[in-house]
Amino acid sequence: MSQKPVDIVIVGAGVVGLSAALALAATKLNILVLDAQAAHAQPSGNRELSDWSRRVTALTPASTQFLSELDAWQSMCEGGRIGPYTDMVVWDSEGTGLIEFDAGSLSLDALGYIVESTVTTDALVNRVNQTPNIAIQWDTWLADLDFTTTHVRVVPREGDEIHAQLVIGADGGRSVSRELAGIRTRQWSYGQKAIVATVRVAPEHSSACWQAFLPTGPLALLPLAENDLCSIVWSLDDSEAQTWIDADDQAFLRGLNLALGGRGPLVTEVSERQLFPLVQCHAVDYLSDRFVLVGDAAHAIHPLAGQGINLGLSDAQVLATEVSFAHSRGATWWAPSVLKRYERQRKGDNLAMMAAMQAFKWGFGSRNPAITMMRNAGLSAVDALPMAKRWFIQQAVGGR
Ligand SMILES: Cc1cc2nc3c(=O)[nH]c(=O)nc-3n(C[C@H](O)[C@H](O)[C@H](O)COP(=O)(O)OP(=O)(O)OC[C@H]3O[C@@H](n4cnc5c(N)ncnc54)[C@H](O)[C@@H]3O)c2cc1C
Repeated sequence: MSQKPVDIVIVGAGVVGLSAALALAATKLNILVLDAQAAHAQPSGNRELSDWSRRVTALTPASTQFLSELDAWQSMCEGGRIGPYTDMVVWDSEGTGLIEFDAGSLSLDALGYIVESTVTTDALVNRVNQTPNIAIQWDTWLADLDFTTTHVRVVPREGDEIHAQLVIGADGGRSVSRELAGIRTRQWSYGQKAIVATVRVAPEHSSACWQAFLPTGPLALLPLAENDLCSIVWSLDDSEAQTWIDADDQAFLRGLNLALGGRGPLVTEVSERQLFPLVQCHAVDYLSDRFVLVGDAAHAIHPLAGQGINLGLSDAQVLATEVSFAHSRGATWWAPSVLKRYERQRKGDNLAMMAAMQAFKWGFGSRNPAITMMRNAGLSAVDALPMAKRWFIQQAVGGR
């Protein structure tokens, strides 16, 4: 059975898919967002250790500016669950290399904000529900895409098929829409997983982000909106990650504090821990006829720089700008030439970030003394040179 046609189907109601929908709202095109989940989890109203979602993201000021333009940031802040960070300390656990910087040196209120993903999706869903030309259809798993000369047939596993002029694939790192559109990827697994958890620290975190580069992978301590709570992302080889998941809390805390090496506050309590596999994956092309990829569906990166969501928000913003511009001029807004302009602007940035992640992973994963010396000298040189340091900071706060 066929449903009423829509202009755009967005597959995936994650942060990127919802932001793309809202950024396109002013065109007045009819937009339908599909998601396989029943609905997103709501942010907790409570503030105990176990009440904080394990999945957090570090939003740059450029990303929060975009979320403000979508009228989502204001309500995100009202809940009191946004953790601004004003200082960043990055060090090499095997040597002397250290970079430190703070918001004041950039005349910013904060370098960024640690936010539970549920807070962001909740605010975006509320905005979508207030927008007449966007609808969300939950519980809808994309099963097939059929590209005809006049439209795309979007076929869910259950329910009516939908006809659209353009499909936006925002269905995350294991994108089904990307596969159905026949877009190849270059991907590799690090043979690593990230442990994520909420921890209590003493003394208070002072709104600082702490990141240690260990030979096993990076470990980040990210300040939440409660002064004594942080989120951790600890990347480890598969077998070691499982050992730390199975360890009892006291053993885990000892291991975590040892890994932090006395820098930053002491970790005194830990929530339930969760594991995420780490893969890097980049779509060879971001588009095919009447189809375009955004967010993790186009590029899943190592979380060591916490940039995944920020790159995805940039994708949503640039794609919406290009499509809206073409639409406002009465042009064929779904044409490959329009989508190509988006790809040209985003692919370079995304590739550069992925290459930097690879270089960090390679450099800090090595115990070779020559490489240890080079990276220590490199980190300290960046810290000492104002221009180099400014570039490093620019990457951290986002430059859109
Ligand atoms: C351990 C870890 C830590 C991270 N830390 C950070 C960080 O500090 N900062 C940062 O910026 N990023 C971080 N990231 C990355 C960040 O979480 C992702 O970049 C971000 O969630 C991607 O958003 P997205 O909307 O593209 O995809 P997703 O959030 O994956 O959303 C995809 C949506 O598509 C839906 N979907 C999937 N398949 C289908 C289908 N067939 N049909 C219909 N719907 C479907 C899903 O239900 C989901 O709602 C981290 C990632 C990991 C693994």
